[in-house]
Amino acid sequence: MAANERTFIVFLGPPGSGKGTQARILEKKLGLPQVATGDLFRYNLKNETELGLLAKRYMDAGDLVPDEVTIRMVEERLSREDCAPGAILDGFPRNLHQAVALDEMLASYGGVTVVPLFIVDDDTVVARISGRRVCRNCGAVYHVEFNPPRQDNICDACGSELYQRDDDRPETVKNRLYVYYKQTGPLIGYYFAKGLLEEVDAMQPVDDVTAALEAALAKRGVTV
Ligand code: ADP
Ligand code: AMP
Repeated sequence: MAANERTFIVFLGPPGSGKGTQARILEKKLGLPQVATGDLFRYNLKNETELGLLAKRYMDAGDLVPDEVTIRMVEERLSREDCAPGAILDGFPRNLHQAVALDEMLASYGGVTVVPLFIVDDDTVVARISGRRVCRNCGAVYHVEFNPPRQDNICDACGSELYQRDDDRPETVKNRLYVYYKQTGPLIGYYFAKGLLEEVDAMQPVDDVTAALEAALAKRGVTV
């Protein structure tokens, strides 16, 4: 690997497929930070920044936040010190324009390393999203049935309260899935053509998905 190469893993898959759950597990094992655009928008919204307020109406509708602000936000995030070895990108890119912008950002670091594609069916996605609960403080992700916290509604990691995301309501979920198929779907072909795609069966229990992901990454020389 060339001296200036870094490891950039792009998690591709529909909302609710388990990208964030796996990114949180793998960031520790791989020593790469999770860069989740949805989390960055929610952080901005919580702090009522201009960016957060702008993003809110798109997020509430389940639409994509405009590329210009999203790309600028990612560029700034990837320029921080903790991304020196690379990053796990979770939720970015979400359309072709963002994918091309990412390639430009990473051109001098050897580009995207590998793109695991999370394969799940729509019914599973809906069941996962409708039971998702998130920690208000640290962002840890739970599921009321599939991955419950030890104590009802309390985060195992930091003891804070869990909440249900506004955009996890059934009305919004439908549009988020539509947006995924229409705008993010073409990225499957984009990364396949570049020889970077690795399909992962994301219907399995969390630990088995982690093992499948690790095997997929190992094929590309990324080991835990
Ligand atoms: P994404 O980041 O792709 O939107 P999340 O990681 O937030 O997805 O997962 C969505 C929901 O599904 C969460 O409630 C999470 O606890 C649950 N979940 C994640 N992976 C699995 C899995 N392998 N099996 C069952 N539930 C899962
Ligand atoms: P997520 O947490 O990944 O489910 O994202 C929640 C919401 O944040 C999405 O429905 C979008 O409104 C917005 N968002 C997250 N990532 C992006 C992105 N790459 N481009 C545009 N909007 C995004």
